[in-house]
Amino acid sequence: MSAGIGKTRIVLLGPPGAGKGTQATAIVDAKGVPHISTGDMLRAAVKAGTPIGKKAKAVMDAGELVSDEIVIGIAEERLGQADAQKGFLLDGFPRTLAQAEALERLLEKLGTPLDCCLALTVDNEAVVQRLLKRAQIEGRADDNEATIRERMRVYDSQTAPLLGFYRERRKLIEVSGMGTIEAVGQRIREALG
Ligand code: AMP
Repeated sequence: MSAGIGKTRIVLLGPPGAGKGTQATAIVDAKGVPHISTGDMLRAAVKAGTPIGKKAKAVMDAGELVSDEIVIGIAEERLGQADAQKGFLLDGFPRTLAQAEALERLLEKLGTPLDCCLALTVDNEAVVQRLLKRAQIEGRADDNEATIRERMRVYDSQTAPLLGFYRERRKLIEVSGMGTIEAVGQRIREALG
C-alpha cells in the first residue's frame, strides 16, 4: 500500500449510472488525491474544439468508446503530473483490457502500483431507470434511452472483463452501489480504509 491514509491509488469501476461521479467526489475530498476522469477530460476537449475533441465527439454522442490510443495518451499525460504522485482516483479509466494493461505498465514504470480497483455493483435495470431520470432532469441531449442502453451494452462487453483482470491480481474490492448516497459512501470508506 502507498503512503498516506489507507488506499490512495485507486481505480473506480462501475456501469454508467452506478453513482461513480458522486462517490468519486467524496473519495477525493477524503483522501486529498486528484480526481482523474477521462470522460471529463474528453468533454473539455470537445468543448475547446481540440483535434482530440473533434475526433471524440461523434463517438461519445453515440455511447461508444473513444479509441484506446487517444484515451491512454491523455491518461498517461495526466498521471505523469506531479500531483498524481501522492495518489489518484481514476474514474472512467481503464475501460478496456488494453487500457488496463497500459495502465499497469505505466504505473510500474512510475513506481506507483495500484492499491485497488473499487467496483460499484448495481442492478443494471435499476441503473438504466436512474440514468433516464437524470437525463430528464439535466436535459442531457446525449442521454436518450438508446444511448443509455448502448453505453450499458458497451460496459458489459468491454469493461466488465476488468473485474476478472483485477480479481486475478487480488486488487478487486466490490462494494454494492445500491441504496442511498450516504450508505454507499459509508461502505466505500470502510473498504478504502
Ligand atoms: P464518462 O463520463 O466516464 O461516462 O465518459 C463519457 C464518454 O467518454 C464515454 O461514453 C466514452 O465515449 C468516452 N470515454 C471516457 N473514458 C473513456 C475511456 N477510458 N475509454 C474510452 N472512451 C472513454
